[in-house]
Amino acid sequence: MFNFSREWQAVATLRPLLRLAPGAMPLVIGFGVVTALSEGLSLSLFMPLFQSLTEAAGPPDTTALGRLWSLLLARFSPAEVQLVAPLGILALLAVKNGLLYLNTVIFSRFNWRISHRLRSQIFSQLLRVNSEFLMEYDAGRLMSILDKEAWQATQALSTLAVLVISLCTLAVFSVFLLLTSWPLTVVSLLLLATVSGGIQTLTRRVKELGQQAAQANLGFVGKGFEQLSGLETIRQFGRQDDEQRQFERASLQVCTTFMELDRLMGAIAPLSELAFAALLTGVLVMVVRSDAANLSVFLTFLFMLYRLSPQVRALDGARVNLVALAASVQVITELLEATRQNQMPNGHRPFVALRQGIRFQDVTFRYRQGNAPVLKNLCLEILPGQTTAFVGPSGAGKSTLMGLILRRFDPVSGTVEVDGQPLPGYDLDTWRRSAAVVSQNIYLFNTTVRENIAYGQPGASAAAIVEAAKMAAAHEFITRLPQGYDTVIGERGVRLSGGQRQRLALARCLVRDPQILVLDEATNALDSLSESFIQATLTRLGRDRTVLMIAHRLSTIERADQVFVIDGGRLVERGTVPELLQSSGLFAQLYRLQNPTRGQQ
Ligand code: ADP
Repeated sequence: MFNFSREWQAVATLRPLLRLAPGAMPLVIGFGVVTALSEGLSLSLFMPLFQSLTEAAGPPDTTALGRLWSLLLARFSPAEVQLVAPLGILALLAVKNGLLYLNTVIFSRFNWRISHRLRSQIFSQLLRVNSEFLMEYDAGRLMSILDKEAWQATQALSTLAVLVISLCTLAVFSVFLLLTSWPLTVVSLLLLATVSGGIQTLTRRVKELGQQAAQANLGFVGKGFEQLSGLETIRQFGRQDDEQRQFERASLQVCTTFMELDRLMGAIAPLSELAFAALLTGVLVMVVRSDAANLSVFLTFLFMLYRLSPQVRALDGARVNLVALAASVQVITELLEATRQNQMPNGHRPFVALRQGIRFQDVTFRYRQGNAPVLKNLCLEILPGQTTAFVGPSGAGKSTLMGLILRRFDPVSGTVEVDGQPLPGYDLDTWRRSAAVVSQNIYLFNTTVRENIAYGQPGASAAAIVEAAKMAAAHEFITRLPQGYDTVIGERGVRLSGGQRQRLALARCLVRDPQILVLDEATNALDSLSESFIQATLTRLGRDRTVLMIAHRLSTIERADQVFVIDGGRLVERGTVPELLQSSGLFAQLYRLQNPTRGQQ
């Protein structure tokens, strides 16, 4: 009848959370038992009290508890017992309630600490996952999990505490009831189990609904976040009605699932109260009809059973809640596990300086979401202090190749070596810090221009920031902004043009004075004047550092020391620009397309 398999599953999903605060559960159980003991003892003190009040209570109390109290209260006269027993009841109740309060306070601390640790751990793991994992999860979904699901997980923990305390009370009270009258206890517990069994059928449906509700909510947040990010695009294409419908559908899905969940959960408390009342009535009838009744024992028994009622209701409520919340806990523990499994392996060797170069040895890479390899058996060598350009049609795999160098992800087979050592052997932070990247996806923070540039080099001096901005051809437009370097740029830099954002991103990189500079279409949004200025700067900078660049406009790579031509994930040509032009391969074709006059020579 007591089938707790779903509850056990729910508790099992909570285990990773409980591991974050190992002392919590034993403490709650300890408190639960002592609380229940004090309440049980206080209630049993009613027996000697009733006994002392009236001789009509029947023959002397011979129950185990009755004998215990007669022994303890032997030296008091009946008149004294009438004072001592109520005081004892009060004292024990004071202990019980004091413990209950302490338990709430202590468990709340555990609870929030667990939630904080959980969030911090996930965030810290997110900072170190491979980029592919980040591509699969969108920010809205992640934020929803960190916010709502993490909160739900703490609710689940509180519910677990309620469950444990109720179970302890139930166990302790059962022992007290048995000591008072075992036949009545057996009958009552059997009836209780039947009521509880009935509630179980409800919990099954509640669990399903709990999972649906968690999914519906994630779906709604994901959809809403996507729509809010794309509001401008929606308006431009006149798709408001369509998007409104989709938004409402996702929102309605959440509402209806939660309404159904509330409806079912709302039925549980009244149903169990009613069942309990029926149980009490039954026991009362049994007592009245029994001849050998000792009134004080039965009154105490009924009183205990009555006090047990809220505990049983709390237990049932907690079971249902726990099962419903288990879905949220599962979402967050899965994220915890997934972020842990997707950590980039981190080596111990600190990266200091590039001496021999970067080598791709038979590197093959495939995205998890695509089946065909994007890079195929690639072998190439990038020399330190040189400017190396990667050229090829769109989708050839150039950005992926840069991603492997920056360790956004690791090859499926083959190795990327740095100075003769496999790249994963290096400490990730020191390696990434030595490189600076300007790519097509620029993210600027919602803060001042100065702070955005200094993000590249925390603590950079004002002079260094201006110098970097000048090198990136950004100084002039910055000084024309309302508060110059102290102008706050809007969320994602919306108040800046594409070219201005690109120049800020470049300044943010240059302020670091990086050993390795990675430019992935870094100047494609610039006018030709700014571009040629920046090209000149980069050429100057490139003399004593390693520059890797991807450029669509081939005019920007003319000064590269080495060019790799990538097509369909394979290396098809290599050489300097003049060499490649002479060989009249893919590079020469692309070059002629872009420079019809110069390509004729
Ligand atoms: P390029 O920089 O040369 O334009 P990319 O390296 O960006 O090329 O892309 C190479 C190929 O990998 C393309 O076919 C692209 O569709 C695919 N690709 C890029 N990113 C992903 C991803 N996250 N998941 C699956 N396929 C991807």
